[in-house]
Amino acid sequence: MIDLRSDTVTRPTAGMRRAMAEAEVGDDVYGEDPTVLALQERVAAMLGHEAALFTPTGSMANQLGLRLLARPGEEVLCDSQAHVVRAELGAHAAFGSVTTRTWNAPDGAFAAADVIGMAVPESSTHLVRTGVVAVENTHNFGGGTVQPLDELEKLAAWARESSVRLHLDGARLWNAAVATGTSLEAYGRLFDAVSVCLSKGLGAPVGSLVAGSSDLVTGARWWRKRLGGGMRQVGVLAAAGLYALDHHIDRLAEDHARAAELARRLAEVTPGVSMPQTNIIVLDLPDGGPVAADLVTAAHDRGVLVSLIGPRTIRLVTHLDVDDAACARAADVLCRLF
Ligand SMILES: *Cc1c(COP(=O)(O)O)cnc(C)c1O
Repeated sequence: MIDLRSDTVTRPTAGMRRAMAEAEVGDDVYGEDPTVLALQERVAAMLGHEAALFTPTGSMANQLGLRLLARPGEEVLCDSQAHVVRAELGAHAAFGSVTTRTWNAPDGAFAAADVIGMAVPESSTHLVRTGVVAVENTHNFGGGTVQPLDELEKLAAWARESSVRLHLDGARLWNAAVATGTSLEAYGRLFDAVSVCLSKGLGAPVGSLVAGSSDLVTGARWWRKRLGGGMRQVGVLAAAGLYALDHHIDRLAEDHARAAELARRLAEVTPGVSMPQTNIIVLDLPDGGPVAADLVTAAHDRGVLVSLIGPRTIRLVTHLDVDDAACARAADVLCRLF
């Protein structure tokens, strides 16, 4: 099977497994796991923040960021396809006591002007006050879209003059940095809280982090424990993350090149394929062509797994476990089906 459903399907490499086996560990609920502490310090520095906290999932990292930045009864502004509003099963509402209001962004691309006009000031005694603006970079359902740095800088400049805090869902921020050459820090320092995932394109089996000020991360540590996310000798997992930071960031460029080649092949047989900026291809199937669900099933029967993410939309993601030959075979299968 050639699995292009997601970059979460990657399995730890032999080198990563060795690093995990050899990791020094301690009880991380006591703050005594040296490998976790090293990972947290390293990621905080990479993102331009004081501190970071290791979490089991990106959803928890996002929820900790939002909870620490937004007070109960405030709203989080995000785009209508954002992971925090679409793909975390309503956690912000169920656990965070905040509401969301969304903007529409073609391909998930962020434009500061759209958002700034929506915000409700702190002085409001009638409309729900805006606590947080959440931005996703790269944008998953938008098709791996890299957010324009100048628009993010406009948002940050505006936020500094208002009471609104900023959260970055940076599950694939690594991909944005590799695609543009912009440093992780240049993106990270614009936001009050930043989440990143080690278990997507970086290939770790599990693990994410949320970064921010020391105060924010102290609060995140309390809430992680309350939510049942305190972990013990978890240095075995943090070691996979450290290994991924050493070995799997620069190679994301290969995933991007493979996604571009796959998209080029698909564009020969179906209209409306936009060239991916990173490792995700989102295909809206036109009228008169194959039905998305049928295409997913037929591809599966021929050894290629792709995701159905909407009634007319499929997603393909390149990653560590698919090489040039696998992508070429997948392109052959999909092109024949189209
Ligand atoms: C995968 C992902 C997350 C986190 O997902 P988990 O499965 O909870 O680790 C968050 N945001 C985006 C954009 C993602 O793609």
